[in-house]
Amino acid sequence: SVEDESLILRTADWLMARGVRFLRAGAFKPRTSPYAFQGMGEDGLKILREVGDKHGMPVVTEVMDPRQVALVEQWADMFQVGARNMQNFDLLKEVGQARKPVLLKRGMSATVKDLLMSAEYILAGGNRDVVLCERGVRSFEESTRNMLDMSAVPNVKGQSHLPIIVDPSHATGRPDLIPSMAKAAVAAGADGVHVEVHDCPEKALSDGPQALLPDQFARLMQDVRKLVSAVGAQVD
Ligand code: PEP
Ligand code: MN
Repeated sequence: SVEDESLILRTADWLMARGVRFLRAGAFKPRTSPYAFQGMGEDGLKILREVGDKHGMPVVTEVMDPRQVALVEQWADMFQVGARNMQNFDLLKEVGQARKPVLLKRGMSATVKDLLMSAEYILAGGNRDVVLCERGVRSFEESTRNMLDMSAVPNVKGQSHLPIIVDPSHATGRPDLIPSMAKAAVAAGADGVHVEVHDCPEKALSDGPQALLPDQFARLMQDVRKLVSAVGAQVD
């Protein structure tokens, strides 16, 4: 989450220096409990914009409601539609009318077909710039936050021209598993990964337990670079 300006600024400084190209942080947060931190809202969007401009980093942030689309479009470079809203059809139609790309995350009990049909809502509205995201689905397994369906990557690629990235952070909820799953995503042909990083996870206002420390992230970046060249792809 965007928690305050200094966190985003120092994290972006650090990530940019290590070759990360997109800055993703939530200003509107979908929280299970209504009493949990709900995000900084518009103030958070402004911080993201400022930090993104400082580094020339495009910023990605979640939009949860059709009524927020115009506001988020004003400040962000890419919308994120989260798992909980993958079938919020009014929201999909609204971002389909917008002029910025959309990162569409798989719903927690959505099939690959459901995901593709949700993407279709956006494309049908005239917005051709959709990136899909596999982030794990709910399952009987209790030791991980979700169960990562890595086959969704080649499965989507076989049926659609859309790029697909993987979110090993929400898929596992566990820093000890995130690096392996990020690497597995590259090997499976994913077009990218998004990973949560925080320099003081114990104090994070959301999802702290699944955040990688900057040093862990740096090691992962090095491994990903090696792997990307091994599979004949490239890091942009
Ligand atoms: C997030 O990306 O921070 C998020 C809430 O993810 P998801 O919608 O996949 O749960
Ligand atoms: Mn999160």
